[in-house]
Amino acid sequence: PTFQTMHANGVVNKVMDLIRGGLDKTSISLRLELDPDLPSIQGDPRQIEQVLLNLLLNATQAMEKTGGELLVSTSFDSLSGDIVISVADQGPGIPPEHRDKLFDPFFTTKEEGKGTGLGLSTSYGIVQSHGGSINVQSEPGNGATFSVRLPVQRPAG
Ligand code: ADP
Ligand code: MG
Repeated sequence: PTFQTMHANGVVNKVMDLIRGGLDKTSISLRLELDPDLPSIQGDPRQIEQVLLNLLLNATQAMEKTGGELLVSTSFDSLSGDIVISVADQGPGIPPEHRDKLFDPFFTTKEEGKGTGLGLSTSYGIVQSHGGSINVQSEPGNGATFSVRLPVQRPAG
């Protein structure tokens, strides 16, 4: 990856512009809550863009039948020195028995041709290479929130 000084809000705005048109035809509404004081990070913006697209694709697929609000937010966790990008949907959520498998390559619950099971495993690898982490919180029946944490300090090596 080509690390450079980048701003996550810029990546979020860019990806939102990419998907907004497609969402207009659905009953999914978008809400953005971007921290105006978010610090820059060292990262590969194209890779972070890909992570965000993967999360948004999953979120919109999860809300395909029901619609609802898709909340994308950024914040700075000053205790850990990480920026946090989170994607919260109002889909069916994650069954507890799937939790540990979500980030495994080829794990998918989607029908043939609809999912490769590579979105989250690829995203996991990208975030790791940035020295960050990705996790999910979900109450079954009450949506899922994926959070990507990326350190402001450039990772060593
Ligand atoms: P794919 O989307 O091709 O199935 P992913 O790696 O992106 O592969 O996701 C793996 C699985 O994780 C999905 O098949 C689905 O079961 C689950 N998943 C991911 N995101 C969500 C979400 N927002 N809500 C519910 N389930 C999800
Ligand atoms: Mg996916």
